[in-house]
Amino acid sequence: MRKLLFQSLLLQLPLTERAPAADEAYLAELAQNLGLAARRRLGRSLSIREVDAGSCNGCELEIHALNNAFYDIERFGLRFVASPRHADVLLVTGPVTCNMREALERTYAATPDPKWVVAAGDCAATCGVFAGSYACVGPVSSVIPVDLHIPGCPPTPTDLLKGLIALMA
Ligand code: SF4
Repeated sequence: MRKLLFQSLLLQLPLTERAPAADEAYLAELAQNLGLAARRRLGRSLSIREVDAGSCNGCELEIHALNNAFYDIERFGLRFVASPRHADVLLVTGPVTCNMREALERTYAATPDPKWVVAAGDCAATCGVFAGSYACVGPVSSVIPVDLHIPGCPPTPTDLLKGLIALMA
């Protein structure tokens, strides 16, 4: 511990891995395209309700990143909403657990038409590492109709933006 402390004080090197360089212009273009596609399709901005149906929270960390100061998707008129009644898209993560099945069905029923369901992450598509668990009902498509799967464990914020653009195209 003392050695690490001296190293960090004297050498001034970060003790964690450096973050990968991100292409800000590319991200801004993706988010802008998504905002435009939503306006073309809906005549307004896109409202997204996130539903964790039983994930490990890895997918949530990437989804939350879309709202942080770096990605900041609200600047393009895309927003996460607190109620399915205000949502156009349900962004669902994780395999559906027995405890979340009814909540997912009720959330789907409470979302007004037209609505889209996006299953984000490998678990949402196939149950992933949780396949065969006694606690899981199955993938999202076994409970509600799914319009788009975004693969990845977890999918990156860029993958999520690309997926949403594909949905609105
Ligand atoms: S896809 Fe990966 S990160 Fe997402 S819920 Fe499953 S195990 Fe976790």
